[in-house]
Amino acid sequence: MSLDVLRARLAELADLENMARVLAWDQRTYMPPAGAAARASQMATLERLGHERFTSDEVGAWLDAAAADTDGDAIAADLVAVARRDYDKARRVPAELAAEMAAAAIEGQQAWLSARANADFALLAPHLRRHLDLRRAYVACFPEADEPYDALLDDYEPGMSTAEVRVAFARLREGLTPLVARAAERAGAIDHTPARGPFPVAAQRRVLAGVLRRVGFTEDAWRLDDSAHPFSACSGPDDQRITNRYDERHLDALFSGLHEFGHSLYEHQIDRALVGTTLCRGVSMAIHESQSRLWENRVGLSRAFIGLIFGELRAAFPDPLATTDADGLWRALNAVRPSLIRVEADEVTYGLHIVLRFELEVALLGGDLAVDDLPAAWNDGMRDLLGVVPPDDADGVLQDVHWSSGAFGYFPTYALGSAIAAQLWAAMARDLGDPEALVAAGDFAAIRAWLRERVHRHGRRRTPRETLEHAVGGPLDVDPQLRLLAAKVDALYG
Ligand code: ZN
Repeated sequence: MSLDVLRARLAELADLENMARVLAWDQRTYMPPAGAAARASQMATLERLGHERFTSDEVGAWLDAAAADTDGDAIAADLVAVARRDYDKARRVPAELAAEMAAAAIEGQQAWLSARANADFALLAPHLRRHLDLRRAYVACFPEADEPYDALLDDYEPGMSTAEVRVAFARLREGLTPLVARAAERAGAIDHTPARGPFPVAAQRRVLAGVLRRVGFTEDAWRLDDSAHPFSACSGPDDQRITNRYDERHLDALFSGLHEFGHSLYEHQIDRALVGTTLCRGVSMAIHESQSRLWENRVGLSRAFIGLIFGELRAAFPDPLATTDADGLWRALNAVRPSLIRVEADEVTYGLHIVLRFELEVALLGGDLAVDDLPAAWNDGMRDLLGVVPPDDADGVLQDVHWSSGAFGYFPTYALGSAIAAQLWAAMARDLGDPEALVAAGDFAAIRAWLRERVHRHGRRRTPRETLEHAVGGPLDVDPQLRLLAAKVDALYG
């Protein structure tokens, strides 16, 4: 009985969440700008309905009763266990605090737009102070956390501790720094011109459509649209929507398209038995990002993949690619160069951009760094880690939207996802043989099937830690990524 009413309530919540995803997708693709106010109200209503219908006392009573009532139904048992964790967490945070955090996020993002446009950090600073005050109140709802940042990290990567991230990132920093230095010493070894285009946008769209069909995009369950920033959204396994943007000066759209494909493939390959439950989505941000990074970096930017599609690329872009070959294009696309902007960073320097953000977030939350000192700390960090200093704050501390909405704890998942992607690649190699050989042969079905079995189909039935353990046979480890990147720097720079 309790299990049935609980299931029905959780199915409603899954629907509300999927409706919000479609509205958010529409907002960023087709909605006319003047629709923003009405859309904000609709989104807030969905959010409030979901929160009220989940955190009510009756749900608590059903959860207690249903725990003893799952009758050997393994999915039901997982559903109840996960809902219990979600419920206990949601009940800890007072509704007024959650509402104020949501309002502060919107106001902060609004302020960030003008702060970045004017390269004026002072416009954002009061919002960051407010976010930090609200986060400290939020952290206080979880007094059992070993350190304050744990509570923020847990929202994006459940079960991960700050201490684990600190260890992983120290190792990453130590491993990446010499690779960046080696590439800088031998920078002349790479001819960058093949990656500089121009690559006409209409031809990029055709090539990307072909590439996505090769890797698993099908017209019946997927869409590809334009947006200012690439993202993926879905309202269930068979409604996958990815978006992209194009610029004729480079081929980034090809790889951001594969990145978003990776996110969507994860949700597409979740076990259909989980549809209509709150288990039917990706388990955490880092596991999600491991999927996108795997298709972007391990597949898309591999020598094997560039070789596979080089004929198509040269037919589409005869001018820029006339005097190069697959190897030359692969080198140009993978060149390692310290730069100011995270989203434009190559795979080797990318991790260092994240290490800096993590260190600054922890210091801000702990009160070791004042908001007013953040721009200077940013610039010092960039100089130490990458040897470059931004000319102004727009290309420095103001470049990302995350902090303006109070999203502290999110950045680490990008680098953790990249590390996990390399762990998965190594595990796949143990099971299937060299995955680059599968890429070279265009056998993406084998890669999809492995990912479905090891990661995707389980949705939220396993914790992020269990998901990783099951997929690769061990805990988080940045060494497989460092080994891959060292080999790549060797191949690129000798
Ligand atoms: Zn992503």
